[in-house]
Order: sequence, then C-alpha cells, then structure tokens
Amino acid sequence: MDAARQYDVIIIGSGAGGGTLAYNVAKSGKRILILERGDYVPREKDNWESRSVNIDGKYQTKETWQDKDGKVLHPHTNYNVGGNTKFYGSALFRLRKEDFGEIRHAGGISPAWPITYEDLEPYYTQAEQIYHVHGTRGEDPTDPGSKTPYPHPAVSHEPRIQQLSDDFKRLGLKPFHVPLGIMLDEQNRQASTCIRCNTCDGYPCLVNAKSDAQTCCVDVALTFPNVSLLTNRRVLRLETNGSGREVTKVIVDHNGTVEELSAGIVVVSCGAINSAALLLRSVSDKHPRGLANCSDVVGRNYMGHVNSVLMAISKCPNPTVFQKTLALNDFYFGSKEWNFPMGHISFVGKLDGVALSAGAPALAPGFTLDLMAKHSLDFWMTSEDLPDPNNRVTVDRDGHITLSYKPNNEEGHKRLIAKLESLMKQQSACSIHGHECHQGLFSRNLFVGQRIPLAGVAHQNGTIRFGNDPKTSALDANCKAHDVDNLYVVDGSFFPSSGAVNPALTIMANALRVGDHLLSRLQ
Ligand SMILES: Cc1cc2nc3c(=O)[nH]c(=O)nc-3n(C[C@H](O)[C@H](O)[C@H](O)COP(=O)(O)OP(=O)(O)OC[C@H]3O[C@@H](n4cnc5c(N)ncnc54)[C@H](O)[C@@H]3O)c2cc1C
Ligand code: SF4
Repeated sequence: MDAARQYDVIIIGSGAGGGTLAYNVAKSGKRILILERGDYVPREKDNWESRSVNIDGKYQTKETWQDKDGKVLHPHTNYNVGGNTKFYGSALFRLRKEDFGEIRHAGGISPAWPITYEDLEPYYTQAEQIYHVHGTRGEDPTDPGSKTPYPHPAVSHEPRIQQLSDDFKRLGLKPFHVPLGIMLDEQNRQASTCIRCNTCDGYPCLVNAKSDAQTCCVDVALTFPNVSLLTNRRVLRLETNGSGREVTKVIVDHNGTVEELSAGIVVVSCGAINSAALLLRSVSDKHPRGLANCSDVVGRNYMGHVNSVLMAISKCPNPTVFQKTLALNDFYFGSKEWNFPMGHISFVGKLDGVALSAGAPALAPGFTLDLMAKHSLDFWMTSEDLPDPNNRVTVDRDGHITLSYKPNNEEGHKRLIAKLESLMKQQSACSIHGHECHQGLFSRNLFVGQRIPLAGVAHQNGTIRFGNDPKTSALDANCKAHDVDNLYVVDGSFFPSSGAVNPALTIMANALRVGDHLLSRLQ
C-alpha cells in the first residue's frame, strides 16, 4: 500500500466519540485520519426551519433498516461531520455514581461497569470544559459530585419554567438546572455567540453556538498539521492479517469508488448501531461471527432508553422560548411508594404545531396543533432499559441492518409519568384561571403523552459492551477489542448498562480516557 494511504491512527466516525478522541490524540504528532460517511451540515436558513427539519427530515439519513418483523424502519439519525451532536439538545449529564455499579430494577438487573465513577471523573471534568457546559454543581440531588465547578454558570429559567421550579420546590422536590453545552453568555447578551433561540434541540445551530463535536473537537483537531478528515467516506468493512489479531485494511466507499487504507491503530466510532453492523459485516475465517466477536455479544444488548414526551397543556399559554433548562431527578432511584429506579424528568425544546404534525398526537375537536403547542409544557422522560441479548443489531448477506427490540423495564417509566401528572395537578393556582388552568385547555386532554418509537434511536448504546471477561464482553476496560490487538471502539456501544440520563457526556469523557491510553501506547 502506498505511504499516502497509511496512517498511525484511523478514526471512523466524527461524532461524540470519534470527534472527541480526535481532539485528544491530535497533539501526539502522529498521522491521524478521520473518516466520516457524511459531509458537513450546510449552514443555511433551513437549519432553523421547523418544516425542513421535522417534516422534510432534510438532514436525516434517507437510509432504511428493518425491525424484527421485517417492517421498514426509517431511523431518526444523522450522518455528518459531528455526528448526532450537530442535532442534539446538548444536555450534558454525568452518569450517577451508582450507575457504575449493579442496580436492581423492577424489570431485572442493570449490570456494573468495569470502571468506577472515580475512574471517569477527571475526564468528565475535561469534557465539561471542552464542551462549555453551563450548570450549578450540587443542585441535583443525585449529582455524583466533583471538586471542580462547572466551567460556566447555569442557563437561567424563563418565567414559566421558573414558576414550575418554584412549585416543585414548594412540593418538597429538588428541581435543578440542566447542564447545557451552549455558548451562551447571559451577562453579555450582545457579545454572546448563542442567542437563546427556540430551534436548538433537534436542529443544527446556524451560528455555531452549540457545543457539538464538530465545533468543539473536530475543527480544533484539524488545526494540527498531522490530522486530516475525509468526508463522504463510508467504511464498508475491516480486514485483518492471517492471524486475525490485527486490522490491516480499512475498506471505504467513496461515492461508489472503493478505497483501501491502513493504520497501526483503528478506532471505530460509527454510533452503537452502525459500529456493530460494521464489525458484523467484517466476517472472515478467523472471525466467522464478525470481527472481535468471539464472545457473540457484538450487536446484542442494544439499549436506547425508555423515552416519552409528555405535553402538559394548560389554559394559560407557555411563552417560553428556550425550554430545556429544568430537570428533576427526585425519582431517579425510586420513591416512597416504589423502591425501584424510575428515571429522569426534563424537557425537550419548545414544540410547535409543525413539529407536532410529524407525529400528530390525539387532537381535541376545534383545536389546532399550533394552539396545543402554544399552551404546553413539553416534558422529556427517560427511564433505563436493561440489556437483553435478544435486543440486537444483525446484518443480512447484503449488509442491511435489522434492529430487533422488545421494550423492557417499563413499569418504572409508567410510574414516573403518573408521578409527573400528579405533581402537575398540584401546581399553584394561576391568577386568571385558578386551578382550572391546569385542568386542561381541553376538557379531558390535560396530558398528551407519546412513547418514542423504535426509529427514535437518538440514545442508542450497548451493542459492543466493554468488560473484564472476554466471554461476556467484546472490549476490554480500555475499549480495545479482546480479540484484536489494534482495534478500539469509542462510541455509545461500549455501555454495559445505560443509566437514565442522556448519554453524550459519558461517551465524550470515555473517548478522552481512551485517548489518554492511546497517547501512551503511541509513544
Ligand atoms: C435530536 C437529538 C437530540 C439529542 N439530545 C441529546 C442531549 O440533549 N444530550 C445527550 O447526551 N444526548 C443527546 N442525543 C444523543 C447524542 O447525540 C448521542 O448520544 C451521541 O451523538 C452519540 O455519539 P456517538 O459517537 O456514539 O455517535 P454519533 O455522534 O452518531 O457519531 C457517529 C458518526 O459515525 C458516522 N458513521 C456511521 N457509520 C459510518 C461508517 N460506516 N463509516 C464512516 N462513518 C460512519 C456517522 O455519520 C456519525 O458522524 C440526542 C440525539 C438526537 C438525534
Ligand atoms: S443559538 Fe443557542 S439556542 Fe439557538 S441553536 Fe444555537 S446554541 Fe441552540
């Protein structure tokens, strides 16, 4: 192979995992190549158009997969520089300390990780700095703790959300400010990069003020002369040497042309579903079940959280612009009545009528989606789903993806929703409508809830789990494949259990940790 195609490190995928790893290893001076199947998200007015983003799916992949029954699945995922972080809501949570140990749920056991919270803590701190996280340490009752404050002050609540926070406090709860990765300076709004708009969660940021993996990491890594990025390069498979212990070729599709590249170290970071699919497609004599899959766990234990959006609709409008500032973790580990974990309550970005029409909820006669959206508080509820080996990614002979998933551990989630509904009924009376305000804009439809369907793979994780035992895990504690000496995986697939907070900060922190391991290996 000619020298131009040989690298010290090839990183496949430029999202939360791959982009952050590139940032860390850039300083090694080694020849590093990032391969990304998509292109840059174009900067254009459509970035902030609800119709283009939510109805036309302008930036989503057009690829289709299938579910376990063979039904076509159109995944809500994005292939571009920065990966899904270009579209995320940038709620950047640490996992709870307890999430690293074994936890008993009503639906089964959430297994322990091979590393502890203390192992990841310094990397969480670094990731919070790199991704400009705004928050207040210690407000969250389940906060795992850190000696270092957040690098920026918490993003303030708008009046309706502040009122809700006060009401929750009055009920004895501990609402807190969501740790957010946005470049907002509330002390100097004129100079602030972020303008605090209503098109953040689910949208790319037109003014590059969202702390995504491209802006915070890939762009920085590319300022080093030893780092390069090739876009529109979809990695098809990885090939090994005769012993099967070393990846020797990275086979890439570039707009229909097949290219071959090689590197001393290959890091896969395509997102949990695509990384598993890539390893499963890379079968060979030495790896008949797929690359690095002696354990037969690759593709298995897919998790994506049990997620719902719950719209609480009042007679009074909710004029909030940037809604995603408040969260509740009081029921994360259970409640007085229910001694099992329930999960996390926070917000999605403010919904509008156009966004609602994409998954149109039940509508009361005479009311428009627009009116519903103007009067709703739009909660996001997350509970932990448990690893089940039969919830899995498989590929057929042509490499097409099937995602088989049966929901589990749902009781805690149902109870979490019931809990929030009961809390909302105890809100303080509004000065115009009294308590009837919270009894609904419509006579019966106070709450409109919707479970996120299988296609909503935003929180995908778990398909290439790490662990100490090569019989039950594909990666070791450094995220190196047990079966291959130069292969690492750093996207969300390494999670052995998913916790119930958003995953991105943990993926970023782990990529920094693996990056440090690679820096010493490269020396
Ligand atoms: C709308 C939305 C909102 C979200 N909000 C939040 C939030 O508020 N907080 C939070 O923590 N998380 C949030 N998430 C989830 C978060 O974005 C993901 O957890 C995170 O981006 C996953 O990182 P990753 O590295 O595993 O994969 P990704 O970031 O998806 O990166 C994978 C990359 O690999 C590339 N790729 C895939 N296959 C190949 C291939 N064969 N060859 C080359 N390249 C390939 C992809 O194009 C992509 O760039 C949200 C996600 C979405 C979609
Ligand atoms: S300007 Fe701020 S609120 Fe608006 S999309 Fe960008 S980061 Fe999000």
